[in-house]
Amino acid sequence: MTDSPNCWKCRFFKISWDPRFPYECEAMHFKSQALPCIQVMSIDGRHCQWFLSKPDENQDSEPAEAIGGIKGNQIDRSA
Ligand code: SF4
Repeated sequence: MTDSPNCWKCRFFKISWDPRFPYECEAMHFKSQALPCIQVMSIDGRHCQWFLSKPDENQDSEPAEAIGGIKGNQIDRSA
């Protein structure tokens, strides 16, 4: 199809806490109602230049349990 950037595949894309502006681009620090890459195209007339693909989720890495420690929003139940 096209090689235009896709926010859903970009590591800078976030879902905002603000229901009026549900999408967020961390690279350019703005929230929007439409996907940020569409906003960029409509304002700048060019594709987003900041796109950076998300890390490969299937990439071989050590499981979190093997590394140890509390990760993200896990709860330490041993205390
Ligand atoms: S950097 Fe570009 S592709 Fe990535 S979230 Fe922002 S607007 Fe979308």
